[in-house]
Amino acid sequence: MKTYRKELLFDVPTRCAFINVTPQVNQALSESGIREGLVLVNAMHITASVFINDDEGGLHHDFEQWLEGLAPHEPVSRYRHNVGEDNADAHLKRQVMGREVVVAVTEGRLDFGPWEQIFYGEFDGRRKKRVLVKIIGE
Ligand code: ZN
Repeated sequence: MKTYRKELLFDVPTRCAFINVTPQVNQALSESGIREGLVLVNAMHITASVFINDDEGGLHHDFEQWLEGLAPHEPVSRYRHNVGEDNADAHLKRQVMGREVVVAVTEGRLDFGPWEQIFYGEFDGRRKKRVLVKIIGE
């Protein structure tokens, strides 16, 4: 069995963003030389997510509105976590959108269902963050 590990780096200029990382994951898969196996993609920070959904701008706007309704950023004083911090909402948003995804690798390709793409969800940006890509197989 082969293994491959890569970190993707992000420094998002806004507090929140959704970034399609499918091209970077495809690149890592290509570098791994693995044809059959599994790829794990996970956020390495507790205020960011990795998730699979549609690459459609209206949906991303809807996600942002929905998350802001569930866990508004303001007023920051509403959260007990925000003692010396202002990112409690980012922790909650990450928890809803998830930490990681696992995708099957078949014949050297990500074995997606229709319209599936992998996204990095940033909820407390303006600083350096990492995403781990781990691929196992043969
Ligand atoms: Zn925090």
